[in-house]
Amino acid sequence: METIASAYVPAAPSVRGSWRQAMLALAGLIALPLVVYYLWSCVTFHGGALVLPTSQEELREWLARLPAPTLPAAAMVSCWILLQVILQIAAPGRIHAGTPLADGSRLKYPMNGWFSFCFTLVLVILATRMGWMPATLAYDHLGALLTVTNLLAFGFSFFLYWYGKSSDSLEGTSRSFLYDYFMGVSLNPRVKGFDFKFFCESRPGLIAWVLINFSFAAEQFKRHGTVTTPMLLVCAFHLLYIADYFWHEEAILTTWDIKHEKFGWMLCWGDLVWVPFTYTLQAAYLVQHPHELPWWGSLGLIVLNMTGYYLFRISNWQKHRFRKDPTALIWGKAPAYIPTTAGTKLLTSGWWGKARHVNYLGDLLMGLAWCLPCLFGSPLPYFYIIYFLILLVHRERRDHAQCLRKYGVAWEKYCARVPYRIVPGVY
Ligand code: NDP
Repeated sequence: METIASAYVPAAPSVRGSWRQAMLALAGLIALPLVVYYLWSCVTFHGGALVLPTSQEELREWLARLPAPTLPAAAMVSCWILLQVILQIAAPGRIHAGTPLADGSRLKYPMNGWFSFCFTLVLVILATRMGWMPATLAYDHLGALLTVTNLLAFGFSFFLYWYGKSSDSLEGTSRSFLYDYFMGVSLNPRVKGFDFKFFCESRPGLIAWVLINFSFAAEQFKRHGTVTTPMLLVCAFHLLYIADYFWHEEAILTTWDIKHEKFGWMLCWGDLVWVPFTYTLQAAYLVQHPHELPWWGSLGLIVLNMTGYYLFRISNWQKHRFRKDPTALIWGKAPAYIPTTAGTKLLTSGWWGKARHVNYLGDLLMGLAWCLPCLFGSPLPYFYIIYFLILLVHRERRDHAQCLRKYGVAWEKYCARVPYRIVPGVY
């Protein structure tokens, strides 16, 4: 009899299916960079208004404004990547084993992200205080940096494709080059123990996110003689999120991306381009919109962000701790769980008994608190929360299908016991 689980086992794609996959990949390769350039141009030239070219002349003007790569931008990106590579290789930190792979082996990862993050922040603060570089450096070269980083991500993804194809880490390919280039061909491409996916997932993109925000704050100060409360809130909320990420870095080893996603253009470009250049849109918008907030508005935003942070942190921590020590108390009681044939247990206590992904709810509440300081003059600063809502709803469904494949009946039992996906009592 077919269970829900077996219905989710993907069949090998037909020729038509492969054609569809290739077209979808091509659409992604063209559309996603265009979206980032479009948003960049709106915030740079139109004060954040979502303006579309309405005539051929306007389109030509728009195209002429596309930023070319420059030597200083190429030098900045090269130094940046080199610094982060050196830190990942040489910075102090524990070595942690990842989750078991299909063959039972476990890869080793250096947990030195916190050191690398703090070291980089101190270095940049020192460099700006000493006058070695302006605090607005990233803002001043943003367009050229965007193009250079795009070129880097496209080029590096070719390397990943070639490297995956020519090494024994090949994870299985489709019939389509485009699809394989887009999705990747190996799960954990490495050279001499240096893990490219682990590196790109966090170090260059996440730390750049914080620093690009700071350069926007510096530009706001340069233009208006003040750093407004909304700018301070956005920078502080993002800083907290990234600091938390690096403080709990080992948690990345059990995430979907590290465990299941092959490393190709989608992740590589997402980590290097999408994250630093679209997650900073709120701060970019605020450069030209130096409004203030009433004290109760700021307080409300802090409460919203911290509520989201609490849900996100505690739910992730409950699962992480349960996986390490299944006897550790949750909310003062021994944890309840559903055993599985795969050997792991599905936690049904704490937040994991309220909805199957309360951690996503926490992330979404935080995302909302990051957008609201920009008020309601344009939808552009809300790009993050709209995109993130779509991403997490889709991600939850992918995770659901994956868990159903892995755990079968046990997952069905878990879904029956905890029927809500993300928002307890609602969805
Ligand atoms: P989760 O950390 O929620 O991990 C899901 C996995 O946890 C499942 O595949 C399963 O894996 C295991 N699991 C599921 N239910 C249970 C349970 N009841 N008990 C024990 N284990 C369970 O998902 P993600 O990796 O997607 O996200 C991690 C965090 O990162 C989230 O907080 C998310 O919001 C955030 N995030 C942020 C993004 C951003 O751009 N800011 C992007 C994406 C995610 P297993 O095989 O181990 O059983």
